Amino acid sequence: MDKQELLERVKADGVKFVSLQFTDILGTIKNVTIPAGRLEEIMEKGVWFDGSSIEGFARIYESDMVLMPDVNTYRLLPWEPQTRKVARIICDVHRPDGEPFEGDPRHILKRAIGAAMDRGYLYNTGPELEFFLFKMDAEPHIRPVPHDVGSYFDFSPRDLASQVRGDITLALESVGMEVEMEHHEVATGQHEIDIRYADALTSADNVMTLRYTVKAVSQTFGLYATFMPKPIFGINGSGMHTHQSLYNTSDGENAFFDPSDKYKLSRTAYAFMAGQIEHARALAAIVAPTVNSYKRLTPGYEAPVYVCWGQINRSALIRIPRYSPGREQSTRLELRCPDPGCNPYLAFAAMLWAGLDGIERELEPPPPVEENVYDFDDARLRELDIATLPGTLKEAIDELEKDEVLQQALGEHAYQAFVRAKKAEWDEYRIQVTDWEINRYLETL
Ligand code: GLU
Ligand code: MG
Repeated sequence: MDKQELLERVKADGVKFVSLQFTDILGTIKNVTIPAGRLEEIMEKGVWFDGSSIEGFARIYESDMVLMPDVNTYRLLPWEPQTRKVARIICDVHRPDGEPFEGDPRHILKRAIGAAMDRGYLYNTGPELEFFLFKMDAEPHIRPVPHDVGSYFDFSPRDLASQVRGDITLALESVGMEVEMEHHEVATGQHEIDIRYADALTSADNVMTLRYTVKAVSQTFGLYATFMPKPIFGINGSGMHTHQSLYNTSDGENAFFDPSDKYKLSRTAYAFMAGQIEHARALAAIVAPTVNSYKRLTPGYEAPVYVCWGQINRSALIRIPRYSPGREQSTRLELRCPDPGCNPYLAFAAMLWAGLDGIERELEPPPPVEENVYDFDDARLRELDIATLPGTLKEAIDELEKDEVLQQALGEHAYQAFVRAKKAEWDEYRIQVTDWEINRYLETL
């Protein structure tokens, strides 16, 4: 779509307002709304805003930033009233001189995609987002009371959640996403929506859109949706397992496929996987970026803890989905540590750079592990040389501070801003006195 076609679409759709969106370094969606009549001017000149007020953006003395709409991301938002039709357009962030702002997460992902293109690859990702639906209590409390009693793949026609998921799917389809499937997840009140794989930029845009679509639709049912990785102690948390493949830009074939291999993986796939395994502990800081993320990455809840790979093994960090004949193009690696609270632009950029590093250095992964790694004791883990993912956000940030490839993936500006924000988050958490401590120590000490 070019600019003229977009303006015609906006008119034909009867759009009254345009929501111009971008993402800060933490993955929070930001928005400026304009009356549709201003769009023409804004597509030429952009919208100026104060970058110093956005987490991880400009410093105070160079705060002017400009939003430039990406015309291909125009979508009508189906849950807004017909009388006040709203469309969204995702924007790139530029400096006043027209250059892309190097700290814009979308630009960071575009830079990674460009590096893969230079090497002859198109990077595809297919994320599976899990989330909880909670009943909203009287404001301001949102109580973590899941509202249903279902479990994995349950079908219960009277379950409100299946109606909500149905409406979410319709809303996602109307904003241009292909939903592969939606189902009840293992935990009570937990659900999953898988969207069809796409090039990583489209896919990251989709993750952002999915998150607010799920929230907006759930709200119309009086439910609160959360992508918090581990909202309830003692049951499964929510992941964003991401299926990844590289296609050759030359012939469009899947560069991960090799018919002669046991797992149908090519040397390129093994090297890419080896790169992600080598960088896994630092990568965690970006794909599982909150204090709460590390409450999910614990043994026993189908989330990965150990840095290993396998086919049938859901406790592994990387899983190779089984090959079936005719599905060569679907050959892929499923990275299981990301959670849906991450910034998907930074996450996919870092995952890609880690994989490309493996290809560049022709790394080989360790042998596969097909047993349940949760059952391994320390001696067995040591014997097999299996590392553990970081246990806390602090440990993950410490790893990122040692990993030059991933620092370079973020770029100097975003790396500094990210680490600064995450250290502050950790420090704030570290000094809290929790209910657990009160229960454990108040009477006994
Ligand atoms: N909820 C699990 C996680 O946190 C994943 C369950 C599944 O295999 O889909 O990663
Ligand atoms: Mg799942």
